[in-house]
Amino acid sequence: MKKIIFVILLGVVGFHSCQISGRDKRKVPYVLVIGIDGLGSHGFEIAKTPHMNELMKNGAWTLSARTVIPSRSGPAWSSMITGATVEKHGVGSNGWTVEEKLLEPVFKSDYDMFPTIFGETRKHHPDAVIGTFHHWDKFNNFIERGVCDVSKSGGSENIVTEDACDFIDKRRPDLTFVHVDHVDHAGHHNGYRSEGYAFAIERADSLIGVFLERLKRSGIYEETVVIVVSDHGGFEHSHGGIHPDEMIVPFLISGKKVKKGYKIEHPVFIYDLAPTVAYLLGFELNGYISGTPLIDAFIN
Ligand SMILES: [Zn+2]
Repeated sequence: MKKIIFVILLGVVGFHSCQISGRDKRKVPYVLVIGIDGLGSHGFEIAKTPHMNELMKNGAWTLSARTVIPSRSGPAWSSMITGATVEKHGVGSNGWTVEEKLLEPVFKSDYDMFPTIFGETRKHHPDAVIGTFHHWDKFNNFIERGVCDVSKSGGSENIVTEDACDFIDKRRPDLTFVHVDHVDHAGHHNGYRSEGYAFAIERADSLIGVFLERLKRSGIYEETVVIVVSDHGGFEHSHGGIHPDEMIVPFLISGKKVKKGYKIEHPVFIYDLAPTVAYLLGFELNGYISGTPLIDAFIN
């Protein structure tokens, strides 16, 4: 019990010190990003998504966001977490590692890679609590080593959700990132407009419900911004090309200081994620990024 109280106190002190260093800049204490691998916007036509519909009703959203080329996981997730396009961060394949780069990034952090939102959050808020939980075991390769308090790969969508929820409950993290892969698995196996795909989306939606419930129980729901994103959709049994079912993805933002029922009408790209999170946490990313913070989604 003592330990838990100590940890909570640390969280409060952490945010307090951040407030002092960037008093007028930081918008919210907590950001949760839920990444659903392989969720094309066309999935909303074939699946029932009550929790995501609720996020849209209570938040700012678009179902017309675009991913990068190639529409593959490594390049796309890297674009989301760096804010940069593929030719800048250089992550051109799912097998990319910091030790074996084919193409050097145009701009590097101390970690020999294009800086991600996790490394930058650590740099700007040294006391921040940061956790990343990924269903896909290679996801860790795309994050600066050692910058997160917890960075856990593997398991299943259920394990990832459970671990992330426990982390939120115990640590009150400034930034939590979650990646689930089962929707993409269903697309590859059954097709990206199949019943199995729709069922997997409904499962992802129910897991979003689990997160929202847990945030409420933890008492930080009102203080949190929840962002739901995806790296690509899919066409027939694959992705990597530029078919609209592969390229067009949802981008949903809901929570503290977010406009309600606000449909974002201007073009949105998946690489707007990192600068938007940075905006919420009160800092700016480097000058080489491609994305822009989605400022119009928020109430000033
Ligand atoms: Zn993917």
